[in-house]
Amino acid sequence: MEFQQQLLINGERMMGDGEREAVTNPRDRSLILDLPQASLEQVDAAVAAAKSAHKHWSRTTPAERAANLLAIASALDAMAAQMAPVEALNCGKPLQQVVDDELPAAADVFRFFAGAVRTQSAPAAGEYLPGHTSMVRRDPIGVVAAIAPWNYPIMMAAWKIAPVIGAGNTLVFKPSEQTPLTTLMLAQILADLLPAGVVNIVLGRGDNVGSHLINHRDVRMVSLTGDISTGQKVLQAANRTVKRTHLELGGKAPVLVLDDADIDAVASGVARYGYYNAGQDCTAACHIYAQKKVYEKLVATLADKVRALRYNHNDDHLNQLGPLISERQRNSVASFVERALELPHTELITGGNIPATPGFYYEPTVIAGARHDDEIVQKEVFGPVVSVTCCDTQEQAVEWANDSQYGLASSVWSSNIGRAMSVASQLEYGSTWINNHFLLPSEMPHGGLRRSGYGKDLSMYSLEDYSVVRHVMLSHR
Ligand code: NAD
Repeated sequence: MEFQQQLLINGERMMGDGEREAVTNPRDRSLILDLPQASLEQVDAAVAAAKSAHKHWSRTTPAERAANLLAIASALDAMAAQMAPVEALNCGKPLQQVVDDELPAAADVFRFFAGAVRTQSAPAAGEYLPGHTSMVRRDPIGVVAAIAPWNYPIMMAAWKIAPVIGAGNTLVFKPSEQTPLTTLMLAQILADLLPAGVVNIVLGRGDNVGSHLINHRDVRMVSLTGDISTGQKVLQAANRTVKRTHLELGGKAPVLVLDDADIDAVASGVARYGYYNAGQDCTAACHIYAQKKVYEKLVATLADKVRALRYNHNDDHLNQLGPLISERQRNSVASFVERALELPHTELITGGNIPATPGFYYEPTVIAGARHDDEIVQKEVFGPVVSVTCCDTQEQAVEWANDSQYGLASSVWSSNIGRAMSVASQLEYGSTWINNHFLLPSEMPHGGLRRSGYGKDLSMYSLEDYSVVRHVMLSHR
């Protein structure tokens, strides 16, 4: 396989001048590529290019920007067949999931924002003071630095690039150092279709290139999807330089199973959406509160479905999940499970082992008997591990679900839709699914509460986050 290796700065593709970073195949730990990262001088050049391009790009009409976003979407579709195997290789994902789910979703995000940028709304212009007409404008912010994690590289790039440039900003984008390969393919599309400097792509580690970007004086806003601790570093940098921030941090999604739920549907949903992407998903259905009446049946039904999940097959069409992204991540997942199973009340229902393979796999795991304040319930594991906690009442399930440092996603399962709706209204989470989990249409907002961060991805609200409202008043005299 041939890989694109060049950064994108001011419309030019160029090799990084910085240190090299190994990109590893998580299925067998072989080296894919030793990729040169950006030097700090190249990061400065990228910011300068974005600053210069902002003068022109911020004055383009919504229709012009929409035309660019639509062209990017079509080019992504045209490149999908080449891009999917690269994403699957770099992340260890089953190829068919990248083909069916991630690439179409990424293209759809560009299409959505092409429409959204042409239909923004605001309060009516009018004479709110006699003799004066007031109007509201929605204008871009300037140079945005966007920094992405490793779990969905091309989707995260789309979630950030489309609304940022759609709103008229310019951008310096840094993918995760672990998963840069498809972003470098997207870089060619952007180089071909956008004016120079509107999007710049740099590679590098967080403590080097990332840190330089978030502290840069010409960056007006930082958008991060990543860990809580990284979000805190962004906030420290923003504090010094008074930048806007858009933070999508971790999650630990509770699945509330009421005593009238369809248990087979819950088990199927959790077996799919607790383990999709090997559980490396901040909305993963990783943690169940089930009422006593259905608890035993749910644990048994879920165990059967999770035991049937397929991974590490030579025929990739059979695989439902891949490995974790790295040895470090796999070992972190394994130690969460070890600590959980040291407790006297927990029970390993299935999984719990590192399989004897060279790749960074971890067995799909179910732990029952977990208590609300156990670490496995309270902390994000980011791996193929689901814990089940028994609760007495619906009220207790809601209270426990809301007693979390995270607030990104949740679901409630019940055959009584009024009851489910009442629970949904009480849950303090950015998204709540009823009798489902995980699905994110481009039109709907995605983002958290509490330490999951703030700022919305997708939807009109994202466009609002990446722009500023201004009041312009005209005197009639
Ligand atoms: P991470 O925070 O380690 O890295 C994310 C990005 O931040 C990477 O590009 C990294 O290079 C960069 N970074 C790291 N340190 C930095 C620093 N000091 N300054 C600037 N940039 C820095 O997270 P990760 O391990 O790549 O991703 C997993 C985390 O992301 C999980 O906690 C997960 O829940 C979260 N996540 C959240 C969402 C969401 O929508 N809320 C989506 C996906 C992932």
